[in-house]
Amino acid sequence: MTRKPYILIVDDEEDIRLTLEAVLRTEGYRVTTAAFGNDALEMIKKDPPDLMLLDIMMPDIDGYEVCRQVKGNDDTKNIVVVFATALRKTKDKVEGLDIGADDYITKPFNMPELLAKLRVHFRIKDYQNKLESLVDFAHNANALDLNDIAAAIRRDFEEFITADRYSVFVVDDENECFRLLAHNHEEGGMDRHELPFDQSPIMNEARLGKGKVIETRFSSSPFSSDVKRRKYNDDFALCLPLKMGSKILGALNLNGNSKGFFDRLDFSLVALIAEILSASLNNVHQLEKLKKLATTDGLTELLNHRSFHERLHSEFERAKRFGQALSCVMLDIDYFKKFNDTHGHPTGDTILKEIAVRLKRHLRKIDTVARYGGEEFAMLLPQTGAHDAQIVTERIRLDIASRPFETDKGPLNVTVSMGICDSDMMGFQTGSALLAKSDQALYMAKEGGRNQTAICNPEAAS
Ligand code: GH3
Ligand code: MG
Ligand code: MG
Repeated sequence: MTRKPYILIVDDEEDIRLTLEAVLRTEGYRVTTAAFGNDALEMIKKDPPDLMLLDIMMPDIDGYEVCRQVKGNDDTKNIVVVFATALRKTKDKVEGLDIGADDYITKPFNMPELLAKLRVHFRIKDYQNKLESLVDFAHNANALDLNDIAAAIRRDFEEFITADRYSVFVVDDENECFRLLAHNHEEGGMDRHELPFDQSPIMNEARLGKGKVIETRFSSSPFSSDVKRRKYNDDFALCLPLKMGSKILGALNLNGNSKGFFDRLDFSLVALIAEILSASLNNVHQLEKLKKLATTDGLTELLNHRSFHERLHSEFERAKRFGQALSCVMLDIDYFKKFNDTHGHPTGDTILKEIAVRLKRHLRKIDTVARYGGEEFAMLLPQTGAHDAQIVTERIRLDIASRPFETDKGPLNVTVSMGICDSDMMGFQTGSALLAKSDQALYMAKEGGRNQTAICNPEAAS
């Protein structure tokens, strides 16, 4: 609890009110007092305290009744109620606890005992608050989008993490780096959003060892770089891998212990947070994998037929909207049936994979290339007319025809034929019409003798 805990003293004896108020203020609590049960109930409605010290025998309504009302109301039931009673009989104490009070203390007060009890109650309340925030966090972080998970961390994390700083990174296996998801370092405190694995020794240790790494003298540890040492004088760093099974998905870093986080709070809370984050990251990861499976071709890892059509539609609409040309290219391997018959299907597959690699090499980031069918590939070149596209296809054609393919049967040669059409050529209304004309042009290239590119002839009958 970062703000001052707030205590309401309810007692009809003025001496007791004044004494308690003075002592508790000195202890750093915020304190108000009420002399009557009904006054206390009114005050609670306006400004609910964290804890009430409640006398039992009072002139209007007694403490039991006040407690019943406080605990019976959803808005106030979390207020800690401690009876302060002169009644020493067990029966009275039990009655108070049974109607929902959290504790009792007998009068005359033993101050050190009272203060110790209050500290215990505030500690429990602190855990309770953290648990509530944790439930909120678990709910918010249960998302399928990394941005939503990052938002949940930024929103809720500081409620229950009181380490000086935190940061959460996601593992990007493809690019061999940690990618920053969320952090609360001071502005400019996080130099880079992408860290190659070997440039964060502590996270890499957690990644490779698949377990938590604790460093209590971080600034002088091998994990601390010179830059960090100047910036933060941490004596505590904890890094937990976020994982599902043995797959490492990310890392949670907690740094700095000036608020006593690691002395007071057990690791089970941190471990639970790591589990929540791991489950969420795993969901995102699985969804991405599914999406990739659904949109790409397993052999070449290019877009598949279905996603090509989606892309064709969106690129065609975009070209139309901005009045730009869009070229569509269909490519087919020449005499591939014969190639398979001669060298075997697996060797044919090697060719398909390598063609995918060579195609990508000749295309820009904004271009699209897909495996359209068996040995047919389709390409989309935005902002490119057919004649410019032909410069690209010629490069592709020559690259394929003149550079043998390495296979298990030794270096082998194949050629390809291509057909091009662009969206400006005949006032197409749909992407499918553009594609059909490119296919027609491919047919022309085959007819013309193969190992060549043909541009769709606008005069040709469709
Ligand atoms: P053309 O020059 O007229 O295109 O002749 P072609 O033999 O290439 O044409 P055809 O359409 O008759 O045969 C296509 C061949 O492509 C048949 C099939 O064995 C091969 N093919 C299709 N998909 C795959 C694949 O995934 N792997 C391999 N290895 N071959 C494939
Ligand atoms: Mg074919
Ligand atoms: Mg073919």
